[in-house]
Amino acid sequence: MNISILDTDGSSFDFTSRYAINSAGLEAEKIARMTGIDDPQYKTWFWKGEYFALLNGKHKLINRLVYPVPEPNTTGLGIHTTPDLAGRQKLEPNTIFLEDGKIDYSVDPAHAKEFYQKASRFLPFLEPGDLASDQAGIRPKLQKPGDPARDFIILEEEKRGFPGLVNLIGIESPGLTAALSIGNYVRSLLKKYD
Ligand SMILES: Cc1cc2nc3c(=O)[nH]c(=O)nc-3n(C[C@H](O)[C@H](O)[C@H](O)COP(=O)(O)OP(=O)(O)OC[C@H]3O[C@@H](n4cnc5c(N)ncnc54)[C@H](O)[C@@H]3O)c2cc1C
Repeated sequence: MNISILDTDGSSFDFTSRYAINSAGLEAEKIARMTGIDDPQYKTWFWKGEYFALLNGKHKLINRLVYPVPEPNTTGLGIHTTPDLAGRQKLEPNTIFLEDGKIDYSVDPAHAKEFYQKASRFLPFLEPGDLASDQAGIRPKLQKPGDPARDFIILEEEKRGFPGLVNLIGIESPGLTAALSIGNYVRSLLKKYD
């Protein structure tokens, strides 16, 4: 297939390839549309997840991931603890629907209260002043509020006239955990073009 790339500096280049793998995360729906595939099933909704770091030495009291029991109809795993590579502990993440679809990585310090209420059920030593706003991430979900859970879309688009193009849409959690399996699956979809 022929592929044209427009770079951020305005320059462009073209090339041909047997394969093209669209794994552009939040932008994957948009890139699929650029090829001419405008499938309503590919509609993704943005959901922010905020993180709060544990202060006052409380991170030293936990040395692993701690998860709550999942709630019914949950949109995430629930607020849980995760150690980071710097040895800190973070409480993460909540799920905030970004109705306008705008990418916004701000963290609202007022949400510390919700994190405290949820996490103090399984971290009894936690006090309200132990939390500091940290980072945020955005998930590309295939559901808006109230929709049932949907699996990732991983599709080779031969039937729509794009042999060798694989679209990966809505790769939210557990996309990272599943990365090797997803990679193997994509490889298997493309084997026929070797
Ligand atoms: C708050 C939060 C918590 C999460 N927790 C977990 C968890 O506990 N476990 C888990 O397994 N997963 C978790 N995930 C999900 C995980 O991060 C994703 O599933 C994973 O990152 C998806 O990988 P990807 O390569 O498909 O997309 P991404 O990681 O989003 O990568 C897409 C890449 O494409 C690039 N890109 C986009 N558009 C263009 C363009 N036009 N041109 C060039 N490059 C472009 C982007 O810059 C980016 O580098 C979480 C996500 C969030 C937001």
